[in-house]
Amino acid sequence: MSRFLAPQFQKLEAYTPGEQPQDMQYIKLNTNESPYPPAPSVVAAMTAGEVELLRLYSDPTAKNLKEKLAGLYGVTPENVFVSNGSDEVLNFAFMAFGSKGVVFPEISYGFYAVYADLYALEAEKIPLKPDFSIAYRDYCGKNKMVVIANPNAPTGMRIPVSEIEEILKTNPDSLVLIDEAYVDFGGESCLPLIGKYDNLLVTRTFSKSRCLAGGRLGYAFASSAIIADLEKIKYSTNPYNINRMTLLLGEKTVEAEEYYQEKCAEIIQTRAWTARQLEELGFTVLPSQTNFLFAKTDKMDGGELYNALKQQGILVRHFSDPKIAQYNRITIGTPEQMARFVEIVHQILAAM
Ligand code: PMP
Repeated sequence: MSRFLAPQFQKLEAYTPGEQPQDMQYIKLNTNESPYPPAPSVVAAMTAGEVELLRLYSDPTAKNLKEKLAGLYGVTPENVFVSNGSDEVLNFAFMAFGSKGVVFPEISYGFYAVYADLYALEAEKIPLKPDFSIAYRDYCGKNKMVVIANPNAPTGMRIPVSEIEEILKTNPDSLVLIDEAYVDFGGESCLPLIGKYDNLLVTRTFSKSRCLAGGRLGYAFASSAIIADLEKIKYSTNPYNINRMTLLLGEKTVEAEEYYQEKCAEIIQTRAWTARQLEELGFTVLPSQTNFLFAKTDKMDGGELYNALKQQGILVRHFSDPKIAQYNRITIGTPEQMARFVEIVHQILAAM
């Protein structure tokens, strides 16, 4: 730490991203990326001509991408915000809407607590039920910003939209942020509610179901007033927040919807297969509506299994929080990758 860091940041504990080994020698099942490439039309869009155009700034209004997203999801462009990964819109939302305090599940996406600390917001972390589900009543009538990942991470479990509607109704004067990063793998979206509740913000990402984690593209839906607030924050920090290439690739991605629906269906099938194999090996596997599984075995500590897998060239994600340290989060890869994963797990357990 330098002598110059402002006092309020000196104790800030930054978010720890999952490992991103650059040599690619691992089967990488640790950060919930897609195992599939972007659609061929998206890959083909990255031409030398487009790279040459990088000398020009990107469109700060992201007009084309917003129009395409609005068309696909049946809203108007004024209901759409686009960001540099969904982490950026989460950041802006905590900055903009958290001043009355913020409430989120104790076990959820680790960045929520970091953003709360970053902006010195009073944060209430609500325990999950013993079965790892979210008790929606705990979030009703809070009169603070509510943040819920639905489906939740790292559990993979979802709550029904009817329960989110109760949270929205009982917190009419606070923003309710529903993080739908994983919604395309079996979640129930509350997007249809944005016309009904002016306190709802739904965030999404191209990083998981749209095979574009490295492109850094997120988006959000809300009333036009909430979107205008987010734009104000964006224009006060980084107006060209999304680079030209990524904007273009995002537009091409929206046009290739069918390809991505197919890939999601494949991942859902591979997830079911992997869960069955793990259960046959004696694992407890939480019911996942995402592109990952959260699983534990009584035969081995979660951290030990993580290390043993890493030694065999397979990266999964382990969290040291004692409440979930027995578990590992395993991203769903291709059928071949998951067959290899299951084989290695089998060998590790058999060698004990
Ligand atoms: N929300 C949740 C629940 C996530 O797991 C992630 C991915 N780590 C994000 C948001 C952020 O994803 P990105 O910034 O790549 O859009």
